[in-house]
Amino acid sequence: MKLNIQKLQPAKVKVKKTKAGLGLVADQDLNKGDFVIEYVGKAMTEKEAFARGGMYLFEINKNLTIDGTNRKNTARYINHNCKPNCEVEIKQKRIFISTKKKIAKGEELGYDYGKDFYKEHIKPQGCKCGNEKHLYK
Ligand SMILES: [Zn+2]
Repeated sequence: MKLNIQKLQPAKVKVKKTKAGLGLVADQDLNKGDFVIEYVGKAMTEKEAFARGGMYLFEINKNLTIDGTNRKNTARYINHNCKPNCEVEIKQKRIFISTKKKIAKGEELGYDYGKDFYKEHIKPQGCKCGNEKHLYK
């Protein structure tokens, strides 16, 4: 995936009630590789993030975590999915979410939150992604 971050136009999306609680759905048809949304929030170190806690911490590396708790961060509504239709790209310390495949208007968006997050926050309640097989044990 090669996004040109100078020219990014966010996709139309909607927050909706889904099986896993609130989720984000596409409000337009999207092609493979389209930019969807940026995950925005306060930048902090892993240490600060750990002290703060919360469900919306997005770790880029040891020195940089984005706390996306703020309501303005619509991307936080995107749920984990074990068969994701979106993927994450880190560029210039920013988090961009783009599509992995064609997505029809009304389809829920999802990306893989990663093994660590899955084990810590998703597995204990059971993954609600709706797929038969899940990515992590
Ligand atoms: Zn799953």
